[in-house]
Amino acid sequence: MTEVGEAEIRQALSGVRVPESGQDVVSLGLISGIVVRGANVGFAIEIEPAEAQAREPLRRACEAAVLALPGVASVTAVLTADRAAPAGSAAPRASAAPKASTAPRASGPAAASAPPRRPHLGPRPDVPGIRAIVAVASGKGGVGKSTTAVNLAVGLAQRGLKTGLLDADIYGPSVPRLLGLSGKPTTKDGKRLDPMRAFGIACMSMGFLVPEDTPMIWRGPMVMSALEQMLRDVEWGELDVLIVDMPPGTGDAQLTMAQRTPLTGAVIVSTPQDIALLDARKGLNMFRKVDVPVFGIVENMSYFVCPNCNHRTDIFSHGGAERTARELECDFLGEIPLDIAIRETSDDGRPIVASQPSSSHAAAYRMLAERVAVHIETALVAQADRAPRIVIQ
Ligand code: ADP
Repeated sequence: MTEVGEAEIRQALSGVRVPESGQDVVSLGLISGIVVRGANVGFAIEIEPAEAQAREPLRRACEAAVLALPGVASVTAVLTADRAAPAGSAAPRASAAPKASTAPRASGPAAASAPPRRPHLGPRPDVPGIRAIVAVASGKGGVGKSTTAVNLAVGLAQRGLKTGLLDADIYGPSVPRLLGLSGKPTTKDGKRLDPMRAFGIACMSMGFLVPEDTPMIWRGPMVMSALEQMLRDVEWGELDVLIVDMPPGTGDAQLTMAQRTPLTGAVIVSTPQDIALLDARKGLNMFRKVDVPVFGIVENMSYFVCPNCNHRTDIFSHGGAERTARELECDFLGEIPLDIAIRETSDDGRPIVASQPSSSHAAAYRMLAERVAVHIETALVAQADRAPRIVIQ
């Protein structure tokens, strides 16, 4: 049976009305982040933060409407709270706004304090306490994979998800620097290491154990055992999501990692250059080969806006990632501009999504986090292969 299309989903949802206004959820612009994976559909419904309980019937009505479509086996609708940006904050530039009609609106920095949404737990991956593991990967180095992984992880934490970040880029662990962390992790029981913490996330990296500039030669089995240890011998506690910053490339080590780590899904970071996109295709194919769902592609260093004259330049022929995503039938998760503030905040250990929350760049990362959050729910439902239910506590 062919996959249900986004237009049909919107059409079905346009029959669901918000009681007070009498208008339907689609024309009110409340639906975002539609994700279709086989017969499983996920999407977000924008609500006011205070309305979480009251909107539960609306959420169920939306799920029921989509579930009635032929070819749909399960539906996950997530309530999402969008707060107004604080007074004086810059509105996201049009260029940084989502392009597709499905794109979620950015949640404000205060979204983290919205009532946490605790979906029913699906089957856990093979690491006790960790509900979902998401790889952030790239076909080659230097495309901004680690910067994206860090801002995505902090963005997910701001949404109220308990988030960890595992720096599996053992050839060049940069996450400690990007999070401004130094020192060594401690252990309470002499067996398991406690992760370090910054910006609301738990983090573990080889960089805590070995200086960043120490050249390390890893043989294949060592790579996997280092990753296994960072995954299983670290006291992560209960996590909604663990982001894994993968080593760049698609060699044997990466393939083994993709195969042996219980991944819920993967996000591919690419710059717009064609050559990099060719690499991105390899990354995507690698995950598909080992049956890991690819959530989509992020275009990093997508365009440049001159800080003096506000003129936008598409330095690397912008839009390649979106085209490639379409060709490869995966989602386009968003575009992040090339900007000195992103480089400076990253290299200073102050991820922009936390240090400049009202900037348009932070909004772009929050949009990415929202899309990834919807993908996680959909992937967990697809894994569980049963009708989902979201419970708001
Ligand atoms: P990778 O993990 O792919 O090797 P990094 O995240 O380490 O890449 O980024 C490489 C360099 O590019 C870093 O100096 C980082 O600050 C910078 N960088 C990443 N993304 C952006 C961006 N969108 N705008 C400006 N600089 C960026």
